[in-house]
Amino acid sequence: MFEAIMTERQRKLRAEVQDFVKSVPRQLILDMDADRVKYPRDFVTEAGRRNLLGLRFPAEYGGRGLGWEDEIIAIEEVGVLGTALACAYVMPSIVGEALSVFGNMQQKERWLAPIVKGQKVAAEALTEPRGGSDFFGTTALARREGDHYILQGQKRFIVGAAECDFFLVYARTDPNGLPHKSISAFIVERGPGVEAEYLYGLLGTRGGGTGRLVLRDVAVPAENLIGTENGAAEIFYRMMVPERMTSAAGAIGMGRAALQIATRYSDQRKAFGEKLRRFEAVSFKIADSITALDAARGLVHATARCIDAGDNPNRSRRLVSEAKKFATETAWQVINNSMQILGGIGYTNIYPIERLLRDTRLIMIWTGTNEIMALIIQHEYYDEVLASKRELRDVEHDAPEAARTEEKVYE
Ligand SMILES: Cc1cc2nc3c(=O)[nH]c(=O)nc-3n(C[C@H](O)[C@H](O)[C@H](O)COP(=O)(O)OP(=O)(O)OC[C@H]3O[C@@H](n4cnc5c(N)ncnc54)[C@H](O)[C@@H]3O)c2cc1C
Repeated sequence: MFEAIMTERQRKLRAEVQDFVKSVPRQLILDMDADRVKYPRDFVTEAGRRNLLGLRFPAEYGGRGLGWEDEIIAIEEVGVLGTALACAYVMPSIVGEALSVFGNMQQKERWLAPIVKGQKVAAEALTEPRGGSDFFGTTALARREGDHYILQGQKRFIVGAAECDFFLVYARTDPNGLPHKSISAFIVERGPGVEAEYLYGLLGTRGGGTGRLVLRDVAVPAENLIGTENGAAEIFYRMMVPERMTSAAGAIGMGRAALQIATRYSDQRKAFGEKLRRFEAVSFKIADSITALDAARGLVHATARCIDAGDNPNRSRRLVSEAKKFATETAWQVINNSMQILGGIGYTNIYPIERLLRDTRLIMIWTGTNEIMALIIQHEYYDEVLASKRELRDVEHDAPEAARTEEKVYE
């Protein structure tokens, strides 16, 4: 983090999280990576016990009423543990957003408070086998029958599926309606018809419980509907803020972890009788990596400030997407550079860089692929520029022949 601009409260929070991160058993990370542990429930319980989950939510539901500016500091620290643990850590922040903003008081007491306290585990189920990018093409169905909804469909790649106590599921409640006005969000607890299995031989991010969810005519009480029927578009857009901000902040922690290893290594390891850091090819990689990491951190931090300040949703959407895309791609480059600096040993499991590299590959895919981020960024930016009046200096005129409009041909 940028030391000089951190508040005292943020420094204390960071120290608390660092203490927690230090307490995480190394064996847990190894067991998760080896798929010996299917889900790190003790880790989540401990984070909750320390009051470190869902920091943004009100104290009455177990949070600390902090802002994004604070939460990204905590997430960066947890990020050094890798994607699976960081994801388990941020899930209450993601699912909690839907409950906190759109849930009623009973729903908050029943589901928000327990996940923020680490007593229950939630999972979010958006992605379907037919595709994740096209969220509004959701095919899972929910039909109302009396005081219940009957849900059927499949979701895949659901983190925590193997172990969670409940799922936040998006399903279509109006099969003939417009895509943006026909999906609803439900809390689905484990019970008859809810089948979830630990699945997939993942490249990295193992041990996070990622699995498939099959819903076979599951009767879900109507009071488990979050927000309004057919109104989940708003919930989805809102949830994408924590979804992507947490990926962005965690990425910085992962890049930082690898870069520190490479920096120390290049100060000790010698080649041709010189420390590696004496070769420009090595030290400039360190320079480029730390510069990129600081730039990513700066963007994530500025985005957090803008969200906390209540920026308009469209600009926030662009900034959040930029932060997610840039931070995750930066982490990938930094970890790749770090591996290169270590040479052959970096490619082995003597150092954790290979695990971080495997983990980081995922974060450019999940929580909205980076192509989808680019789609959002350009869309919002075109809208912003084309809607703005040319009231500021029109720089287009600052050319000698600017007035020759006959040369400004567009078709
Ligand atoms: C380990 C893991 C954990 C996950 N955890 C969860 C979870 O907890 N909950 C959850 O709901 N999902 C989760 N996901 C799903 C993840 O978010 C999706 O995989 C992701 O959104 C992409 O969806 P897809 O895999 O169906 O790819 P597709 O949507 O099929 O996309 C395939 C490719 O096409 C590109 N593409 C698609 N549409 C466009 C477009 N319009 N313009 C440009 N390019 C496009 C994509 O960028 C991508 O490169 C997880 C995935 C993995 C692998």
